[in-house]
Amino acid sequence: MQLTGKSLIGFGLGAGGAGSFRAFNPTTSTDLDPPFVSAWAAEVDRAAKLAHAAFATLSRLPGNRRASLLRRIAAQLEANATAIVERAAAETALPLPRLQGELARTCFQLRLYGEAAETGLWLDARIDHGDPQRQPQPKPDVRSCFQPAGPVVVFGASNFPLAYSVAGGDTASALATGCPVIVKAHQAHPGTSEVVGRCIQQAVREEGLPEGTFSLIFGPGNEVGTQLVRHPLIKGVGFTGSRKGGRALMDAAAARPEPIPVYAEMGSVNPVVLLPGALASRAEEIAAGLHASFTLGVGQFCTNPGLVLTVAGASTDRFLAKLTELTAATPVGTMLTRGICKAYRHGVNKFTTTAGVKELAATPSPASQTQVGATLLACSGDTFLARRELMEEIFGPATLVVRCADVAQLQTIVAALEGQLTATLHGSEAELAAASDLIAALAAKAGRLVCNGFPTGVEVCHAMVHGGPYPATSNGAYTSVGTRALARWGRLACYQNFSEAGLPAELKDANPLGLWRLVDGKLGLH
Ligand code: NAP
Repeated sequence: MQLTGKSLIGFGLGAGGAGSFRAFNPTTSTDLDPPFVSAWAAEVDRAAKLAHAAFATLSRLPGNRRASLLRRIAAQLEANATAIVERAAAETALPLPRLQGELARTCFQLRLYGEAAETGLWLDARIDHGDPQRQPQPKPDVRSCFQPAGPVVVFGASNFPLAYSVAGGDTASALATGCPVIVKAHQAHPGTSEVVGRCIQQAVREEGLPEGTFSLIFGPGNEVGTQLVRHPLIKGVGFTGSRKGGRALMDAAAARPEPIPVYAEMGSVNPVVLLPGALASRAEEIAAGLHASFTLGVGQFCTNPGLVLTVAGASTDRFLAKLTELTAATPVGTMLTRGICKAYRHGVNKFTTTAGVKELAATPSPASQTQVGATLLACSGDTFLARRELMEEIFGPATLVVRCADVAQLQTIVAALEGQLTATLHGSEAELAAASDLIAALAAKAGRLVCNGFPTGVEVCHAMVHGGPYPATSNGAYTSVGTRALARWGRLACYQNFSEAGLPAELKDANPLGLWRLVDGKLGLH
């Protein structure tokens, strides 16, 4: 597929011209062809108007038609797999097998969200039949369900160029609910974005759907991205990336005359709590598992375990000795972008120059704009509690082990933590049985708790929660992974005393869509 470097505005190509940029190959430190031209403001406006027009059709399609679109997108991605993963490898330095796995995950996700569109569970359809004879007042007939809210803007992340980008979870879940999508392409993988965007464009065409169902915009986030978020026809935003970027978009959306929700996933330090009994019996095993987790993908995961809470003692020393040995032997890795590499070095330097923080091991980093080694840091519980900046995320292969004086201090630290995507607890059976207070404290902080494992790897399934209290995300009531992700793009609508003819199909007594519904308080296929 020949890249054009132009935005996809519905079925057309943007003319662009408001500046241009090139993708960068982090492995070879060279620019890649072609230049990508930033969209004009008028093109951004046209994409929003087309999306608004498409919403009238898309929002009324039954779930099986939306599922058909998602399956067709998956098939298009599979048919273009070689072009997609090769370009993604050049733009991100991620290895081919990782990208092939990520593409398979992306296609699985599209199909799963298609199934979710068909079953309609996300609609949460409820019917309370009326009772005209009820005394002293007749009871009205009340029915409600979620309906798609309107066009959605998606900002993908740099670290998942496929699964959290153009055809990733936000796009798949929004299309599954009947919301048209405009993606602001990430500047770190524009070529991958174009290939994937054209697969979606083709699928929309083949399904006979309106062109505004999907658009892809190139240009700087703080220009075209902010313009999209402020556009009055946009009704929701999905974002994965930095706290700074997510917060800027939350503020821009809140400042609109009509504020709209921003579902931002902004990362976290993902604390891992190691109780003494677990370390007494598994110190080396846990060290090996933790090392594999915090260095996986050069540490560039939002679920990377960047903070480890232990209680000082002989088992903790054994654990640290093994972790030090493994970290010192970690091969150098290539990061996604020059900016992320610079931020990693800055973060490590900030921690190592903080009084009380000791660097236990560090792979020497080469003099390169993108390559780094791993870093293991340690401090006492007192130091950690005194220096709030040690709670900040270092995005990359680094982790900070805190040696608490006792379990009580460990609990104090947990209570002081910010909102997290995940929290992990290692304990013996006896420790876990006695840890209900600690488990409740961790559950108050994190979207997902992991027991005797590691947080990297987010399963795409119905029950998954990839969310958590602010600042891990903008809204801890939702998840960006799993079929509950669809709920973010809905708006509740209630119909009172409507006749069967006037009701939407989701709420008709005949249940023509075969949905699971709560009818007069009873859940069933009725
Ligand atoms: P990012 O810088 O936040 O960028 C994500 C997307 O948002 C990009 O498309 C970017 O536009 C746009 N954007 C950023 N700031 C914006 C603003 N003020 N207004 C409008 N749009 C804005 O994230 P990143 O490039 O993926 O990674 C940088 C850092 O984010 C990392 O160092 C790490 O700390 C964090 N991160 C977190 C996760 C996670 O899963 N939560 C994943 C990756 C990275 P451009 O394309 O123009 O830059």
